[in-house]
Amino acid sequence: NALAWPEHTREEHTLSEQVEQQGGRTVVVTGANRGIGRAIAERFVADGYRVAGIARKDDLPDGVFFAEADMTDSASVDAAFTAIEEHQGPTEVLVANAGITKDTLLMRMSDEEFTDVVDVNLTGVFRCVRRATKGMIRKRTGRIIMISSVVGLYGSPGQVNYAATKSGLVGMARSITRELGGRGITANVVAPGFIDTAMTAELPEATQQSYLGSIPAGRFGQTQEIADAVAFLATAGYVSGAVIPVDGGLGMGH
Ligand code: NDP
Repeated sequence: NALAWPEHTREEHTLSEQVEQQGGRTVVVTGANRGIGRAIAERFVADGYRVAGIARKDDLPDGVFFAEADMTDSASVDAAFTAIEEHQGPTEVLVANAGITKDTLLMRMSDEEFTDVVDVNLTGVFRCVRRATKGMIRKRTGRIIMISSVVGLYGSPGQVNYAATKSGLVGMARSITRELGGRGITANVVAPGFIDTAMTAELPEATQQSYLGSIPAGRFGQTQEIADAVAFLATAGYVSGAVIPVDGGLGMGH
């Protein structure tokens, strides 16, 4: 009976004890070569974790093990996790960060513009989670952290494809929580607002200014501020199925 899982026993060691005993917990960050993913990988290195980055090219921060994969290709994702496990052992923390936009108005959006974004942002996360949880279930501990977006729940004109994938992650994290919560695995969503990266630099100046006007904090966020929230979720054992906004108040109320 698949539902008759043994009862979860509390994790016996605090994080600092684990770091000391095992030489750091193992983390995998997708899209670790730039932007938010790079800042997250750097933060975990600084915190003493053993960090692997999945990316399409080897341009990762110092101290991060490189595994090549394309999020749209299940076989390459599986192979990357296998290479990472051989290098640093089973994955204890997964940060599913890689994502793309293909913005255009609904009436102009092609099937490809919709499904390409789904393939990376939603199916890509599914591919990583499915592979990473194998080891987590065996170890009876795991932290899955998905990088969504404020627009997943707030909505955004021109981003019907992107927003649909980002809210889809909430359903995914909550279903994982219900399915695997009893095995010491948590799944949470971080919802960044407008963060200074290549993705947002591409937006027209007028769009950037209009966002700025609606952010209570009165400024855009920094990649390190997303890494702060991710670092917290990596250590939190009793937070699961949560959506943590890091958006200067932009999406309040969701
Ligand atoms: P960037 O565009 O700077 O980086 C995106 C990352 O995803 C890159 O590492 C890129 O790799 C990787 N990636 C894209 N497609 C694939 C693929 N098919 N296979 C493997 N890797 C891929 O974005 P950000 O750092 O700004 O965003 C990171 C995450 O945060 C995304 O999920 C984004 O949706 C989310 N986010 C960002 C916000 C922002 O304001 N910047 C706001 C809200 C959410 P490569 O270099 O090879 O292209």
